[in-house]
Amino acid sequence: MKASAFAYARATSVENALELLADHGDRAKVLSGGQSLMPAMNLRLISPELVVDIGGLAELRGIAVRDGILRVGALTRYVDLLKSSEIANHAPLLADAIAHVAHPAIRNRGTIGGSLAHADPASELPACVLALAATIIVRGPRGQRRIGAKEFFTGIYETALSPQELLVAVEWPIAPKASAHFFHEFARRHGDYAIVGLAAQAVIHDGRFADLNLGFFAVGDRPFLAGAAGKLVNVAVTPAVLSGTLSALADELDPQEDHQATPAMRRHLAKVLLTRCVVALLDRPELNAGVLI
Ligand SMILES: Cc1cc2nc3c(=O)[nH]c(=O)nc-3n(C[C@H](O)[C@H](O)[C@H](O)COP(=O)(O)OP(=O)(O)OC[C@H]3O[C@@H](n4cnc5c(N)ncnc54)[C@H](O)[C@@H]3O)c2cc1C
Repeated sequence: MKASAFAYARATSVENALELLADHGDRAKVLSGGQSLMPAMNLRLISPELVVDIGGLAELRGIAVRDGILRVGALTRYVDLLKSSEIANHAPLLADAIAHVAHPAIRNRGTIGGSLAHADPASELPACVLALAATIIVRGPRGQRRIGAKEFFTGIYETALSPQELLVAVEWPIAPKASAHFFHEFARRHGDYAIVGLAAQAVIHDGRFADLNLGFFAVGDRPFLAGAAGKLVNVAVTPAVLSGTLSALADELDPQEDHQATPAMRRHLAKVLLTRCVVALLDRPELNAGVLI
C-alpha cells in the first residue's frame, strides 16, 4: 500500500517549521527520520495533508554537556547516540537501550525526538528518559516549554505536544559518580519490540539505593515510572523487602493484553526484571532465591 497524496515542505529553520505547523494545525505532520511516520502513512493509519520535513535543520542535531546537564538535540539519530563518548560517559543507560532498538538500518535514520514524539509504549527511549528524569524541550507558537518526562507521555502514541509544537531537545543531569544503571527487555527476537522491558537508573551508597528510578515499558498505555522503587531506597534490601516491592509493583501495573502476552504474563515478567535489576545493581545474587513465585 502507498500513502495518500500529500504536500511536502522542507523546513529551512525551526521558525519556518513552526510557521508551517501553525498554518496547517493537525492536518500537518513533522517528518524527522521517517521510521515510524512513513510506515504509518503507507499503511494509511494516518493521512496528513502536509509533511513538514525538519531533517535538514542542523540546529536540532547534536550532543553537548554544560554545567552538569546533558543536552541532546531532537534530530540526533540513534546511531549518533550509540557512537557518542558523552553518552557513554554520562548516560550509559541510553547506549545500552539503543542496542535493543530495531536494526542498524532503522538506527541510522531514527531520531530521539521522533521516538519520544511517537510515544510507542513498547519503545525503549521513552522509558529511559523517565528513568533519567529528563526534561523535554518543546517550541511552539507561544515560545518554549519545558516538560518533565513524567508529564510528557499521556497515553498510547499520545504526548503533551500540541500539533503546532516541535520537540527540539531533551536534557537531563549527568549521572553522578555513585550511579549505576540496568537495562533489559524480553523480546521474541533481538530488535523486535519488547514484550516487557526495564530501564533503571540508580545511585548506590554503601550497598543501599540512595535513589532508584524504574522505567518500565510495554506494561501499559505509556512508559511507567514505578512507585514501588520507593520501597527499596535507603533501606537494607532483604528478601522480605524485595518480595514486598514485587507485590507493590504487580499491584500498580495495569498491563495490556495483545498477541505477545497476557496481563498476568507481563506482570510476572516485570517482577522478573525488577528482581534481576536489584540483584545486578546491588551485586547480591542471594536475593534471587525464593522471592519470585
Ligand atoms: C522495522 C521497524 C522496527 C522498529 N523497532 C523498534 C524498536 O524495537 N524500538 C523502538 O523504540 N522503535 C522501533 N521502531 C520505530 C522507530 O525506531 C522509531 O519510532 C522512529 O525511529 C522514530 O524516530 P523518527 O525520527 O524516525 O520519527 P518519524 O518517523 O519521522 O516521526 C515519528 C512521529 O513523531 C513525530 N515527530 C518526529 N519528530 C518530531 C519532532 N521533533 N517534534 C514533534 N513531532 C515529531 C512525527 O510527526 C511522527 O508522528 C521500529 C521501526 C521499524 C520500521
